[in-house]
Amino acid sequence: MAVVSLERTRTPTNDLDQPDIFARHESDIRLYCRRFASVFVSASSATIVDEGGREYIDFLSGAGALNYGHNPEPIKRAVIDYLSKDGILHALDMHTVAKRDFISAFYETVLRPRGLDYKLAFSGPTGTNAVELAMKFARQVTKRESIVAFTNAYHGVSLGSLALTGNRSKRAAAGICLPGVARLPYDGYLGAGFDTAALFERLLDDEGSGIDMPAAVIIETVQAEGGLNTCSAQWLRRICETAKRRGIVTIVDDIQVGCGRTGTFFSFEGTGVEPDIICLSKSLSGIGQPFSLVLIKPELDCLPPGVHNGTFRGNNLAFVGARAALDYWSDPLFQRRLEGLCCVLRERFDAIAREFPTLQTRVVGRGAVLGLTWSDATLARRVSAAAFRRGLIIETCGARDQVLKALPPLTIREDELDSGFKRLHGAIADATGNPRKANRQGGQHD
Ligand SMILES: *Cc1c(COP(=O)(O)O)cnc(C)c1O
Repeated sequence: MAVVSLERTRTPTNDLDQPDIFARHESDIRLYCRRFASVFVSASSATIVDEGGREYIDFLSGAGALNYGHNPEPIKRAVIDYLSKDGILHALDMHTVAKRDFISAFYETVLRPRGLDYKLAFSGPTGTNAVELAMKFARQVTKRESIVAFTNAYHGVSLGSLALTGNRSKRAAAGICLPGVARLPYDGYLGAGFDTAALFERLLDDEGSGIDMPAAVIIETVQAEGGLNTCSAQWLRRICETAKRRGIVTIVDDIQVGCGRTGTFFSFEGTGVEPDIICLSKSLSGIGQPFSLVLIKPELDCLPPGVHNGTFRGNNLAFVGARAALDYWSDPLFQRRLEGLCCVLRERFDAIAREFPTLQTRVVGRGAVLGLTWSDATLARRVSAAAFRRGLIIETCGARDQVLKALPPLTIREDELDSGFKRLHGAIADATGNPRKANRQGGQHD
């Protein structure tokens, strides 16, 4: 089944821009480097520089792994200091001071102030590995197999997580069947008038529905890869309450939209929902170091030692970065600025939607993960390409790449934000053949 869709595609033309060494030696599976075909050397805050000295504004932020920007000064200092003292860099999951400091800071800064009670399970360093571990917990606790995942979900690409992921071509790459998942429509999938949480409840309670009683339901509050679909607090509550009453484990995958991306540390804060399991990764280390964490309710902490082993569980440099990153969260000014950023982003995107009314622009997403989508589904890709030519790195998401997704660092400077939006305006004008706008916004790099 999968083999057909994996027919080798020839290297895209923009690879011609790339120095030979990548095209010659690196596997064709590489992706982002084709779309943003420069060779980068350094970066700070939201500004990234290529080897030719060109500066780009980064609205991609490592797909949400750099919420605090590139090389954030306080985190960088902590990491350099740790390295310079010959701090432990690798210890499997043995105890280290760096690990203890992180656990204690995470408890004091994140869990305790929110009244949350979770154990910390360190999985392998990738997000997908955290999801794999979350699934194991849920399946072993309930002794059930199936997990409910939603349309357009993205949970990673190792086989277990891939089974949960919606995207057809990514699924096809597995080349085998991906069992153990029941797919349900996400909030809004069937239009505003259709409550898919009610469908969830009905399918669970109907002996004839054909849905086996699941071990877990896994939810993204914002489908950051799947097209910036958001769920309402009411929908989230109903799904979680329905699950809880039936002994189904609730998992929130906060890998991309956690760590502040929606304006609060966890994306579900304020909804009243307290998931059984929470997956964190991407921005957790604060500085782009690989690091993942599964938070689990103590009563579900059922796996015996060692069943989910991994050489890199507990990346000590990431512990150090993550601990330093938590200092942002004990600073009320950071949180106020973050709220401000969320408002400013919303205003800026709404303004773009108003500026290009004929394109039927829609603003999607929530908090500091917002995007634009147009009646012409191909426009997002073209705007992304035009933006890169103007010195703005911004990616697309959605099953058809139909959404332009902005993930600026949460700590972006005002001048960087202004410059990024100027380039974005220009890029939309370029991509839609609006020369007046293009001229007004200036040429390449303002
Ligand atoms: C990125 C992501 C993953 C997978 O993380 P990797 O580190 O790429 O394996 C899982 N879930 C969500 C929501 C993500 O955004």
